[in-house]
Amino acid sequence: MGAVHLVNHPLVQHKMALMRRKDTSTRSFRSLANEVSTLLAYEALRDIPTHEVTIETPMEVATGTMIDGKKLVFVSILRAGSGILDGMLTVVPSARVGHIGLYRDPKTLVAIEYYFKIPGDLHERDVVIADPMLATGNSAVAAVDRLKEYSPRSITFVCLLTCPEGIAELHGAHPDVPIVTAAVDRELDKNGYILPGLGDAGDRIFGTK
Ligand code: URA
Repeated sequence: MGAVHLVNHPLVQHKMALMRRKDTSTRSFRSLANEVSTLLAYEALRDIPTHEVTIETPMEVATGTMIDGKKLVFVSILRAGSGILDGMLTVVPSARVGHIGLYRDPKTLVAIEYYFKIPGDLHERDVVIADPMLATGNSAVAAVDRLKEYSPRSITFVCLLTCPEGIAELHGAHPDVPIVTAAVDRELDKNGYILPGLGDAGDRIFGTK
């Protein structure tokens, strides 16, 4: 089975508890999603390849560590992924950004692609996918399937929240893709929502309900 990195830092858990509350405002929810995703991005990039460089401090010549290779790519799964993209860009402001538009067919819950735009040279880049909720796993698998057509160096999946069903689905298809998350909840309901969860992440980020 693939790796699941649960970021259980008390500050992350505190912010998640605030986000789960049904009476948290759109403004607060959006700002908390940003903060948590910044912290998740640090964890997602923990094993990124690095190399040593010689630098001059004001005091003497020293050795520093820098990230290898071409710029990272954050890929946002539309639309909810946009709600955690900015927080992740806070950590790597020069990262490239790709978008995959997927919607869940409300009856079958199957992911249907309507948009795909990613940077070139993906085979030289590390990809971090951003989607707040890894629920059925259908969108995650569809996104990874598409990205693998371009052979990126690595793919990591970042979400605020997931559940056993979502992890099993993604890792059943792509065990090489680590999942970085702030919570693994109890279960999925029959409509594909995570319980206890936080509701519809897109609606809560954008205030559409
Ligand atoms: N997408 C959401 O926004 N919420 C869920 O609980 C599941 C999928």
